[in-house]
Amino acid sequence: HKPVPNATAEKVVATVNAGVATHEPEPYIGLDAYVADGGYKLLGECLSGQRDVDSVIAVMEASGLRGLGGAGFPAGRKWKIVRAEPAPRLMAVNIDEGEPGTFKDRVYLEKDPHRFLEGMLVAAWAVGIAAIYVYLRDEYHGCRAVLEREIAALKADPALKDMPAIELRRGAGAYICGEESAMIESIEGKRGMPRLRPPYVAQVGLFGRPTLEHNFETLYWVRDLVEKGPESFSSHGRHGRKGLRSFSVSGRVKNPGVKLAPAGITIQELIDEYCGGMLDGQTFYGYLPGGASGGILPAAMNDIPLDFDTLQPYGCFIGSAAIVVLSDKDTAAAAARNLMRFFRDESCGQCTPCRTGTAKALMLIEQPKWDTPLLAELSQVMRDASICGLGQAAPNPVDCVVKYFPQELS
Ligand code: SF4
Repeated sequence: HKPVPNATAEKVVATVNAGVATHEPEPYIGLDAYVADGGYKLLGECLSGQRDVDSVIAVMEASGLRGLGGAGFPAGRKWKIVRAEPAPRLMAVNIDEGEPGTFKDRVYLEKDPHRFLEGMLVAAWAVGIAAIYVYLRDEYHGCRAVLEREIAALKADPALKDMPAIELRRGAGAYICGEESAMIESIEGKRGMPRLRPPYVAQVGLFGRPTLEHNFETLYWVRDLVEKGPESFSSHGRHGRKGLRSFSVSGRVKNPGVKLAPAGITIQELIDEYCGGMLDGQTFYGYLPGGASGGILPAAMNDIPLDFDTLQPYGCFIGSAAIVVLSDKDTAAAAARNLMRFFRDESCGQCTPCRTGTAKALMLIEQPKWDTPLLAELSQVMRDASICGLGQAAPNPVDCVVKYFPQELS
């Protein structure tokens, strides 16, 4: 799709990634251009009864699309589960995108907001949603202006007068509010702290109602999947994996950015084929395969297929597919210190293993010599006893340094 300048688009200066970079969104595909390209035809077919819910959910299931916020739960199955719950059912859309190194949602949202909005409304139709709450990262000022304008345009369309209410909520910069139940607490106006589960949000979510929770990107692909068929997604893939992944690549490569690539691609293939290789004069040293919490792997392990489930045997995971490439100018230990500092600062403080564990781990890895037996014990406690993924995954980078980069600790 060629972006068509939006006549009403105002220039918006946005500060992204916690104030590190300023950004002016390019002209994006507005409502008229989107409709001219066949947009909202699918939604129209759904609302007019030309498509039935079961067949749309069947396409979602056949495509193998999984939640792209990091958890990887099959999207079609989630629709079925929430649909079976009693009405009124609500929907919460996560565009908090706080995982360090992840920026795919912003890039897609700034280019083609209606592809996401149509996917969101199709999901709401399929699941029978009464109201939708969109939770947007507060630093994404440009995205907010785009969404406010385009949601207002949809609300003004008489053909969509029966669509569910859509509320746009601003986050406030807390990493933990990207965790689904903490996000729900935050939308309800409370302090963003993860809930104990069960009950799961599909049963007892927003305002105590069954809730369909989705990441932005999962909904972004709905229109393509239903219109082009499940194979449009599932026919891609490498090394035995299926589907497409939007990798947010940053670090020491020539061409960083969002790379839509086959699921299962290896880091070496990603660097060579999609990122123009390493920066001149720098040698590939290691990589973070899944943002802050997905661990750190050495360059020697450059042939692992990058996908859900493939990295667990190595103590890592892909999460939201944020890849940070390290070179010989970096050390894994310094990266681990930086990440642990981040986790300590972002821990919501609700449970002791995480609140105290992250601070203790940081103190230990700031010493010239790491006490690895004590760190291993601490990691185990954090993994076993933390309430949510933040505390459970926070030890991953440290454990990886001990396991895969022992030369840095000797
Ligand atoms: Fe909060 Fe950390 Fe416990 Fe999660 S693990 S609930 S972030 S203190």
